[in-house]
Amino acid sequence: MIGTVRCWLNLALLTGGIALAQTTTFAGDDWHVIKVSGHDYLTVENISRFYGLPTGVVAQGEKMRFETVKNPLEFVSGSREAMINGARSWLCFPLIEQDGKYLVSRTDVAKTIEPLVRPQRVSNVGDVQTVVLDPGHGGYDKGQVSRYGNEKDFALDVARKLRPLLQAKGLRVILTREGDYFVPLEVRAKIANAARNSIFVSIHFNATSDNPDATGFEIFSFTPRGAPSTSDTALTSTSYSMQPGSAVDAQSMALSACIYHSLLGHIPEYDRGIKRARFAVLRLTKVPAVLIEGGFLTERGECKLIANKDWRGKLAGAIGMGIENYRMLAVKKQPPMLVADYRKQTKSAPVDPIIQDGQQKEADSSLINLVGKSKFVAPEKTSPASRESSLESAPIVP
Ligand SMILES: [Zn+2]
Repeated sequence: MIGTVRCWLNLALLTGGIALAQTTTFAGDDWHVIKVSGHDYLTVENISRFYGLPTGVVAQGEKMRFETVKNPLEFVSGSREAMINGARSWLCFPLIEQDGKYLVSRTDVAKTIEPLVRPQRVSNVGDVQTVVLDPGHGGYDKGQVSRYGNEKDFALDVARKLRPLLQAKGLRVILTREGDYFVPLEVRAKIANAARNSIFVSIHFNATSDNPDATGFEIFSFTPRGAPSTSDTALTSTSYSMQPGSAVDAQSMALSACIYHSLLGHIPEYDRGIKRARFAVLRLTKVPAVLIEGGFLTERGECKLIANKDWRGKLAGAIGMGIENYRMLAVKKQPPMLVADYRKQTKSAPVDPIIQDGQQKEADSSLINLVGKSKFVAPEKTSPASRESSLESAPIVP
């Protein structure tokens, strides 16, 4: 047990941003930091030893799917792609090879791997009384338009279906919009920031003009300080720029993991992964925040699924169970359920969390009090400023 405590302290040192010499050995030989072009890296071996988990490195271009993954930590040579506990997770920086060793950036060990592998150890994790559900777009901002309907309506419906599920678990639920009107992104964040012990869950559906066959789920939390977002295709000097990060970065990552494993575990969609972005709502929220992309409205099959209210009920149920798992991190101090656990469970006893429309609760007036009625008036047309901050899904990353 003492050993575990020591390892944890060393990791705290690692995340603390202290200056390190060329090659630093921490007490207990837990971490060996290797400098490459001025940046800190750790070997895959080192990571595997620290967590006591088997790891693997597959060749670039090799397809990694849930069914084919052998290790809890699987990296791809030369790539930011990784599989962590059976779900695709995107590192901030690519895995590099040097002197026959594979190296992972120190940023990723602290900001990606640690909160995904041991979310239950993140400080104040799971401390949640209020869930702020944010149905994307609204009013004049339709979001993605499909032949079966608009993103704004599907997102609102998922939030409405999810609300009673969370309320039944004793959580307070606030919707950033109750109907078909636009709420400025900064107001959405403000609602979450003003609520007590809140988390922020933004609900969207995806679209792309590049690839009509693109499908699957993805989830975003805010990009850490000094790192590029997942959609940044080339690493430039600005990738390392010190744009402010988030003080609750690790909690957001833990929330991402809990919701994402539940999504994939309940609904067999393609796994696009746990990603990072500097979307306005993620940047402006001061509480643990994620943005879910629940499938593609530009793909023929998936847009039909999204248009099906029973399927949306299932999606809401999966998000709800993910949030419940996040909350249980504080109670149980144990790792959350993973995609494999959910799949085992749903095989033996399929869950059908569909809610009847009549059961939905009416508007939460506290929301209106919180932000003031005037805030909800939609602008005449999209101004250049609000277009800039408009929340579009990240470009398609392989
Ligand atoms: Zn959207």
